[in-house]
Amino acid sequence: MMSAQNNWLNPKLELRNSAIKGRGIFAKENIIQGTRLAIFGGKLMLIDEIKNLPEHLRWYTMQIEERFVLGPSHETEPAETDFFNHSCEPNSGFKGQIFLVAMHDIKKNEEITFDYAMAVSKSVGSDFVFEMECNCGSSHCRKKITEDDWRRPELQKKYNGYFSEYLQEKFLE
Ligand SMILES: [Zn+2]
Repeated sequence: MMSAQNNWLNPKLELRNSAIKGRGIFAKENIIQGTRLAIFGGKLMLIDEIKNLPEHLRWYTMQIEERFVLGPSHETEPAETDFFNHSCEPNSGFKGQIFLVAMHDIKKNEEITFDYAMAVSKSVGSDFVFEMECNCGSSHCRKKITEDDWRRPELQKKYNGYFSEYLQEKFLE
């Protein structure tokens, strides 16, 4: 496990099996809007360096800028903060690039999700292309999540203020 110095998960949350995919992060109690849920950390890498990671670790990276991600290093196992699932109808979003906060009130036993469109964009200086099938179960499900989704006007409106800062500043006046 990564040490607590590398990332932080609100103690009101825990890892459980998820109906969306594999394991996910769930609320152990009711959480009010604006609560800080997690601080992401890890090793700073260029996006091209993802392919140097063992295959099972490549999903556990967080894009924080066009060229950079935070991710696991070879020696570590994924941290709890690596298990937030994507949803097309999420209940959390970003403050800055590494703080995840509750976008609205969250009920006990709800899974904590964010929309990967809030953080992922085309990588500069790399051929790496992000694309993911989605079966989140939301009636708004986009079925395919891509690195260009942040450009969608309806998502910019829906998540305004909750995009990772490097994306938010691209379209905010
Ligand atoms: Zn979906």
